[in-house]
Amino acid sequence: MKEFDYVILGGGCAGLSLAYELEINGKIKNKKLAIVEIRDEYKRDRTWSFWKVFDHNFDDCVIKSWNNFSINSKSGSHEVLNKEYPYQTIDSGLFYKKILNQLKQNKNIEFFKNIDQLNSDNSIIFNSILAKVNYENKLWQHFKGVEIETTENIFDDEIFNLMDFDCDQRDVVHFFYTLPFAKNKALIETTWLSKMDDNSLKDYDMQLEKYIKETLKIKNYKINFQEQGAIPLFFPSNKIEKNKINIGSNGGMTRLSTGYTFLNIQDHSKYIANNIENIKNIKPYNIGKKYEFLDNIFLNVLKKHPDKMPKIFLNMFKAPSKTVIKFLSNKSNIFEDLAIILKMPKWIFIKNIF
Ligand SMILES: Cc1cc2nc3c(=O)[nH]c(=O)nc-3n(C[C@H](O)[C@H](O)[C@H](O)COP(=O)(O)OP(=O)(O)OC[C@H]3O[C@@H](n4cnc5c(N)ncnc54)[C@H](O)[C@@H]3O)c2cc1C
Repeated sequence: MKEFDYVILGGGCAGLSLAYELEINGKIKNKKLAIVEIRDEYKRDRTWSFWKVFDHNFDDCVIKSWNNFSINSKSGSHEVLNKEYPYQTIDSGLFYKKILNQLKQNKNIEFFKNIDQLNSDNSIIFNSILAKVNYENKLWQHFKGVEIETTENIFDDEIFNLMDFDCDQRDVVHFFYTLPFAKNKALIETTWLSKMDDNSLKDYDMQLEKYIKETLKIKNYKINFQEQGAIPLFFPSNKIEKNKINIGSNGGMTRLSTGYTFLNIQDHSKYIANNIENIKNIKPYNIGKKYEFLDNIFLNVLKKHPDKMPKIFLNMFKAPSKTVIKFLSNKSNIFEDLAIILKMPKWIFIKNIF
């Protein structure tokens, strides 16, 4: 069986981002890379959005970017303007196409369906495949989104709605998220922060239809694209294995309080590519222990006081926009962290430190 210097398990967002970063930096000129991916075809299957707080390789895959967003709750609405860090949405279909076109030019890169088809005994393995553990009892951000096209121009495509809490909460945290790609086209998602063991939260289609018809008051529309998923708001428990580095959601790249992962994957991929020759000996990359600590307190509060979360989110976004975006994108300094912490209800957070 063929041997490879590097093996990437899972050719999704993290696996392909890493392969691309290695390839464009000439790190696979004299090495062999295997990508193990189970899917038969690549097509648009999800939409990745984030505040662009640093440059990445995929500006040409962006569907739309915005400088304004709003947050709604039953008690009011708040608009945020930030020109420095645009919020970008990436079409995964364009992302996959761009990377696969680049990778196929290098004969040292091969795709496989199963790791048993190659010899990986002496390879460095980058693993993005989540182990099959029952995580139902943990907290997830689970959601369904539909991209709709309307007959008339209805949306203001200059501003997106990050969170609309003015909806059924069912004793957990629930909001709608609307990304207007054009005046007649938007992605609308129903998003829950809860455990996964409650099926009563998963009548997503009904929730979306009700929101589109009753809240957005849209009567005539067609659905162009749908996505459904669940992002773990916990770090998967992986055993430490020699020669294996976990990447993507499996490698702790998800920000626990928000589910944002895409840009952390890009940062991690750059870190690995820059250090690939010595990767086994350098400090493992993480998105910041302080964020892990703060997010765990935040999630404890969220679990115990879901009813307080709309107000907490709304208050957080009343901090200066640059501060809150940097904090949520794990690029904040200590002063910016403090500015956010001071917006939180102190007693509840202090009681939930332990
Ligand atoms: C619908 C959706 C929308 C999201 N939106 C955002 C967003 O807006 N912003 C953001 O920052 N994050 C978002 N995320 C979170 C995160 O960015 C994505 O989940 C991202 O795809 C994670 O990358 P990954 O490589 O860890 O996992 P994946 O992209 O899921 O890649 C894992 C790969 O492993 C393959 N695989 C699985 N099992 C096997 C096996 N046994 N053998 C071989 N291959 C296997 C899969 O087919 C897949 O290609 C979203 C997640 C989902 C599900």
